[in-house]
Amino acid sequence: MQQQLAEIEARALAAVHEAKSAEQLAELKVAYLGKKGEITSVSRMMGQLSPEERPVLGAAVNQAKSNVEQAVARRMAELKAEEQNARLASEVIDVTLPGRRISKGGRHILSLVQEQMEDIFIGMGYTVEEGPQVEYDYYNFEALNLPPEHPARDMQDSFYFSERMLLRTQTSPVQVRTMEKMGGKLPVKIISPGVVYRRDDDATHSPMFHQMEGLLIDERVTFADLNGTLLAFARQMFGAEREVRMRPSYFPFTEPSAEVDISCFNCGGKGCRLCKGSGWIEVLGSGQVHPKVLEMSGYDPEKCSGFAFGMGIERIAMLKYGITDLRLMYDNDVRFLSSF
Ligand SMILES: [Zn+2]
Repeated sequence: MQQQLAEIEARALAAVHEAKSAEQLAELKVAYLGKKGEITSVSRMMGQLSPEERPVLGAAVNQAKSNVEQAVARRMAELKAEEQNARLASEVIDVTLPGRRISKGGRHILSLVQEQMEDIFIGMGYTVEEGPQVEYDYYNFEALNLPPEHPARDMQDSFYFSERMLLRTQTSPVQVRTMEKMGGKLPVKIISPGVVYRRDDDATHSPMFHQMEGLLIDERVTFADLNGTLLAFARQMFGAEREVRMRPSYFPFTEPSAEVDISCFNCGGKGCRLCKGSGWIEVLGSGQVHPKVLEMSGYDPEKCSGFAFGMGIERIAMLKYGITDLRLMYDNDVRFLSSF
């Protein structure tokens, strides 16, 4: 019986050594080591042996099984290595193929437009000032000539944290903060771009949007200076042929106040759908700084005067690039964002 076992084992080992694939190895494993496999069958003949002989044969069977199992594992590893070597030998790497393109990120449309606007005013000698988005009611309203019961506060409904603190509704508080910081020194010549918040939400209004304000205070600053400054801005932003037009308006912090239109860059002033046939497009609000605002921030309205203006950065971007829905700028759709 030992003799028979040795023969079977030798046959098994030879077959495993010759195996050409993983499937073949699996079949051999079943044929020799499986429940009805040849080696397993030998142990079933144990009953014919004497009690002394049984353990000897049992040990021999186990040894044979273990030998064959090890041979199968070794052959399996060999086959895998052969397969890998064959693949490496046949694969050719073409080093002249173009590499994988890494897509570059870009600036957001609003950052681009804000930067263009800043550059124009920096070119005219303005400096850029920033201020907090969580603001005191005093800076956002009161110091801008909007006392607590002022009806014009309704035009800028805000998000309040407490009676005294809110999310700023405009970047004008930066003007007040800058005047305080300057302590009466002249000239004050700043722009203040940034995020502002109002309780509005539709296709042309967002609860969060961007503004840029400008402020110039010096001796003998007139409405003509305001007009010339805005004309220079309009021409650099929207083309050298632009004209500006001022219409009387009302803001609590300026007196007199004016809405500013630019001649339509789409039709050149003849009238089209963009300008609703008027030839003019409204872009910003402006005016001479109210004497009370100057006084509250430590400037003497008898000795100096100034102008201020404010515009929505989204509005300028929409006009400049023909964007029809404000919300596109906040949707983060790469197809839209990558077109600028
Ligand atoms: Zn037009």
